[in-house]
Amino acid sequence: MKPRIAITLEMSAKGERRLNYLDLAYSQCVSEAGGIPVHFPSLPAKEMIYDAVSMIDALVLTGGADIHPSYYGEEISAAISLSPDQRTDFDLAILQAAMSAGKAILAICHGMQIVNVALGGTLYQDIPTQVPGSPIKHREAEGKAYARHSVRVEPGSRLATIFDGMPEFEVTSTHHQAIKGLGKEMHVSARSPDGLIEGIELAGYPKILGVQWHPEKDPASEASKRIFKGFVALACS
Ligand code: MN
Repeated sequence: MKPRIAITLEMSAKGERRLNYLDLAYSQCVSEAGGIPVHFPSLPAKEMIYDAVSMIDALVLTGGADIHPSYYGEEISAAISLSPDQRTDFDLAILQAAMSAGKAILAICHGMQIVNVALGGTLYQDIPTQVPGSPIKHREAEGKAYARHSVRVEPGSRLATIFDGMPEFEVTSTHHQAIKGLGKEMHVSARSPDGLIEGIELAGYPKILGVQWHPEKDPASEASKRIFKGFVALACS
């Protein structure tokens, strides 16, 4: 059987209503790489999350809005657009459950920031004001085509194995936050030319890949195919 891959959902909160939704591009990429995409609702039920994780082989933590800075011990210090805490709680819980079960994990953009926060790291709340002078545009204005910039893979990282012979490539970027302080046991696997962290790995957990860019927004690119294929291979290992 093909590996079953849970893909977290985005959430919007409108008054009392909570809506889960997601760009289908994530499922298309997982499916094309040989996995079966599965979704679980972002319900605040820890036991359900452990049962859910027992049904799957791997987890994709998807993109989304900003994590409330209280999750990394800070106050709001910049213009941010908050993701509902209910989603953050769910994503942190399913990440913890997936890690304790040793599942493969692909953490994309906001998902990589979730991993960092889960392990005690911190974030720049707004790159343009908190990392001034960067010549790289990590997010384009709404309504325009996504920003693109290059990333360089760190030699010796696990990401470097996936990107063998391809140490630098272009990616689609849409984030205004970034990793500031790295979480426990994390190391950098890729950077953009301005030095920002664009990829992370965990010393003691070989089955996790974190990327700050959006491979699912570039499904036909060689870089995106390698990421999803490499992740599905991890899910099968
Ligand atoms: Mn970027």
